Amino acid sequence: MAMAGTGSKKSKRAAPGARRRPGVLRRLSDSFRERRFVPKTSARAVLAAVVLGLGGVTLGVGTYAQWLRAEELGPLAVAPYLLSAGLVLVVGFLLLEREPGMPLRVGDFGVGFERAAQPVERLAWHRVAAVDLAGGELVLESADGALRIPLGPHAQAARRVLAEARRRIPARVKLGQADLDRIGEPGEGEVEPRPVEPPQVAGLRCRKTDAPLTFEQDVRVCGRCAALYEKSAVPERCMECDAPLRA
Ligand SMILES: [Zn+2]
Repeated sequence: MAMAGTGSKKSKRAAPGARRRPGVLRRLSDSFRERRFVPKTSARAVLAAVVLGLGGVTLGVGTYAQWLRAEELGPLAVAPYLLSAGLVLVVGFLLLEREPGMPLRVGDFGVGFERAAQPVERLAWHRVAAVDLAGGELVLESADGALRIPLGPHAQAARRVLAEARRRIPARVKLGQADLDRIGEPGEGEVEPRPVEPPQVAGLRCRKTDAPLTFEQDVRVCGRCAALYEKSAVPERCMECDAPLRA
């Protein structure tokens, strides 16, 4: 991890006791952090599991009653009803079980969902076009589609996402005061942030010149919205979030 500033020959100039204010512009070798939120098992998910269990048992009994009884006994009259009820329960499970149960990451590089056996893909703050609340979900809209955070299982993550978005990209937060109050602020018991690796620059482009970024050491990051710039093309103010970059 880089010790930003500690090796600077000019650091002795700082007044004794003055707190070092970290600039907004950062290098990829600086330290970055994010929080990881595990979804809360909702009553709906528990209900879905119960419905699936009942459906399985009902289908099993129905199958027995219809086909597996001794030949001389024949199928039970109730068998078709059991089979139908079992199917209805399994379909009910499929309808209930739509909530994403994925852990969420929220930090310096944006918001990311963990998908099984895949690297975490993050939606960087500067790529979020709008933050809004719809149908019990915090919705982050971007050119690549919407990232939806269900308030039920991810209430803590939604509070953190909203707090970060209001600090980093306030102009794009569309929620009214009533919705802000409904979601609330991050509070005690929130998970601590942990170090996070910066993104691979291969395939990414400078926000100012649109030139491909190649050398990690030449890349600069807006510490507020995570927009990337080639070091010689860093503008006065961030083109995405207006943070002063050349202070
Ligand atoms: Zn920015």
